[in-house]
Amino acid sequence: MPKILLSDKLNEKVIEILENAGFEVKVGWDIPKEELPQIIGEYDAIIIRSATKVRGELLEKAINLKVIGRAGVGLDNIDLEVTMNRGIKVVNTPAATTNSVAELALTMILSSTRDVVKGTCEIKSNPESFKSMKKELFSREIDGKTLGLIGTGRIGTSLAVKCKALGMDAIGYDAYVPENPVVDMKPSMEEILKEADYISLHLPLTDETKNMIGADQFNLMKKGAVLVNCARGGIVDEKAAYDALVSGQLGYYCTDVFEKEPPSADNPLLTHEHVIISPHIGAQTAEGNYRASVQAAERVIEAFKDL
Ligand code: NAD
Repeated sequence: MPKILLSDKLNEKVIEILENAGFEVKVGWDIPKEELPQIIGEYDAIIIRSATKVRGELLEKAINLKVIGRAGVGLDNIDLEVTMNRGIKVVNTPAATTNSVAELALTMILSSTRDVVKGTCEIKSNPESFKSMKKELFSREIDGKTLGLIGTGRIGTSLAVKCKALGMDAIGYDAYVPENPVVDMKPSMEEILKEADYISLHLPLTDETKNMIGADQFNLMKKGAVLVNCARGGIVDEKAAYDALVSGQLGYYCTDVFEKEPPSADNPLLTHEHVIISPHIGAQTAEGNYRASVQAAERVIEAFKDL
């Protein structure tokens, strides 16, 4: 009977799924991380989220480890060079939180359009502003507007489906995937920047994408366009975003991510009223957590069938 350690908090359904598949399950999410190297040697598999770092001493002591399940997408908490050299299989759940992130991007689009964040802050601090806010928050609709996606993989496509259902057009640019069943694909990012009312980023941070949205790109946008970043800090040049907000070229910057997290107190974006922020919670929903947990367990079970 293979022994599996659950070292980060997962949905409890995982225990039932693994036990039914014949695993001996150890719920270890309350074990301090520094104690894991002392026990890891007993286990054939481990399921982690982002808190457990499977590298260094933990990996050295994992003498029986055959499979690592990562409930989530990123594998940066695993030393993939060592796992590959030792033939340890690594499985993850890339699609489990797609809808969670797409819904946050949609929330950003709608919140910026009707300015509910500003309304809430103003009225809470000064109830008398209720009337004056009516005029100030006189707004527009998303119906008939154009969503421009940069990166049209899982999350970008999911957002396109939602926005089209709300009456928007969806255009997109992707450096590696030229076709998409729901997005009107354009051959360059510049076309997206020029045509879209709302631009949403859904691509990884790489050498190629670092600071890819800077002063030149803001200048190409429609005046007052909204930029949504639920991808990664570092893709947007934050100083250039601030300058574009101050000049009015950028209407709103809605972001779940910063180049440095948490952002420094002197980051100018924190001072601008047309910046909407969430604290890197794109993937964090109850439903997303459930799907990531269950899919990680299922993928680990499959991986053992191939051993
Ligand atoms: P995905 O791999 O399905 O799609 C990413 C797309 O980006 C791919 O189609 C790829 O071809 C495209 N791409 C890569 N480099 C590009 C470039 N230089 N120019 C244009 N397109 C490029 O990934 P996904 O599941 O849709 O996730 C997208 C991103 O969302 C992830 O890379 C991650 O950075 C981010 N993310 C954020 C959160 C959060 O908590 N906010 C959670 C999950 C994912």
